[in-house]
Amino acid sequence: MQSAEFRKRGKELVDYIADYMDTLHRRRVTPEVEPGYLSELLPKEAPKKPEEFNDIMKDVDRAIMPGITHWQHPNFHAYFPAGNSYPSILGDMLSNAIGCIGFSWAASPACTELETIVMDWMGKMIGLPREFLHEGGDGGGVIQGSASECVLVSLLVARHLAIRQLKSRLPYTEDGILLSKLVAYSSKLAHSCVEKAGMIGFVKMRQLDVDENFALRGHVLERAIEEDRRLGLIPFFVSGTLGTTACCSFDNLAELGEVCANENIWFHVDAAYAGNALICPEFQHLLKGIEKVNSINFNTNKWLQVNFDCSLFWVKDKDALTMAMTVDPLYLQHKHSDRAIDFRHWGIPLSRRFRALKLWFVIRTYGVDGLQHRIREHCRLAKLFETLVSGDNRFEVLGKVTMGLVCFRLKGNNSLTQKLLKIINESGKLHMVPALINEHYVIRFAICAENASQEDIRFAWKTISIIATDMLARKLSRYDSNIPLDNPSTESFADEEDDEVFPEFDNNIIFDNQRCNLQRARLRRNLFLKMVSDPKSYNPRVLKSLNFELGPRHRSKSLGGTDAMSLSPDFYFGTSI
Ligand code: PLP
Repeated sequence: MQSAEFRKRGKELVDYIADYMDTLHRRRVTPEVEPGYLSELLPKEAPKKPEEFNDIMKDVDRAIMPGITHWQHPNFHAYFPAGNSYPSILGDMLSNAIGCIGFSWAASPACTELETIVMDWMGKMIGLPREFLHEGGDGGGVIQGSASECVLVSLLVARHLAIRQLKSRLPYTEDGILLSKLVAYSSKLAHSCVEKAGMIGFVKMRQLDVDENFALRGHVLERAIEEDRRLGLIPFFVSGTLGTTACCSFDNLAELGEVCANENIWFHVDAAYAGNALICPEFQHLLKGIEKVNSINFNTNKWLQVNFDCSLFWVKDKDALTMAMTVDPLYLQHKHSDRAIDFRHWGIPLSRRFRALKLWFVIRTYGVDGLQHRIREHCRLAKLFETLVSGDNRFEVLGKVTMGLVCFRLKGNNSLTQKLLKIINESGKLHMVPALINEHYVIRFAICAENASQEDIRFAWKTISIIATDMLARKLSRYDSNIPLDNPSTESFADEEDDEVFPEFDNNIIFDNQRCNLQRARLRRNLFLKMVSDPKSYNPRVLKSLNFELGPRHRSKSLGGTDAMSLSPDFYFGTSI
């Protein structure tokens, strides 16, 4: 394609995007396809000859769009928001056109310098102390691809420092032996990426209990450290969370930081979602204790109107980070001119996109005021939703509503809440996902759309309420979600009194290959709260299709198979978003 055609197609595509955004609300929020649908619609081999752009776009409409879950839809309330905005799309477009790989200053000076500037802007916006900023000297921030990478990198730095210190005392001990003594900590509500970082880093990871507000507290960490030291282990890393995925709770940074400082432990803070709200001064009290934190991350691509990927990561000691991640042992001694802003050693990949551009476009287009307004508006709408739920005595809200997330359920009933969510998702009118909090199955309602409005929230609540009324008016066992809502059954629902633990899943398909995962999971942790992103647990289409593919040998008794085995809910809630 040459520039003349690019001009034409580019303009057409911008129109297509604007039309998509303007008419998004008319679509179903979730697609109606089943796994494997696309291979039925596309050829088995790549085209040998060039194809027309128009034909590609026809296939976008015919084959791709029907399989899209519309994350920007006003009725999308699942997971956390996927940041988006026109300035961000434009910034990324330009970045893609420039197409530089900015791993060091020399590789593209503007790319590296803009990143350091916007990282300092953002650091100041959320109230980070000067030690975290490039302009402060020893610290600084960099844009990573994801929160998971930030957590992994911080764990690797901590591991490097711990092994180095041990080596200085025990120079003849094998690294592997030292490694086997290291232990890291998070709360049970930490995102699964923390546990994954431990797995990749080959270190033990303990998941600690939280208090009644779902927060990890200093004394719990202190006790765990004492126990582990008695066993001869070496605590080296703690990951605290600001805004847990399941219910947006906040670990106590001040208490944890104090313990980490006393114990010489690297303290990382994962604020993937909630960190965005810190641009509003009224939320900055959540950073109390930040002076004892070593590194922190949050995803502007969640809640700051920036498209994926744009995860901000700051450290106080960038030399420690560089040392842990460089393969050139003399690197720090070179002191060459661009070392201070050389990102080669700050992450896993060497190549880096020019991601700062979209963030810069967004900050400048909306200004700090505009971004704060959006966060506050989402928080206000979450409060409105909480009020609507609380006003209906069939429902209850679990946990505090501090930001843009509300966790709610049918009072005291796991299985009905679970069925309600399934029916709602099946209807295609709204999309939400569940979480398990203290054995309570809750539906997470996240405010996601950039321009979410009061009307959207009222629509969502009305839909939930109508479906709940209809569902409760039927016998569950006979409930057929295909019956239209305007034709509700009048059958009574009298004997549905249980709160069985997710009977639908216990009686559903069991996968041989997942049994050992379950056993491993049981051995490794006692999950009392886990976020659900495994679509098997709430998307009947996925469940149906897996069941079909695996055939009767793998099905549970209730489905006619011979391999039934009772699984605890841990199994189904083992995957976190
Ligand atoms: N940490 C928290 C608290 C999250 O909520 C999430 C995702 O929702 C993550 C980490 C993972 O983020 P990423 O996909 O950027 O790795």
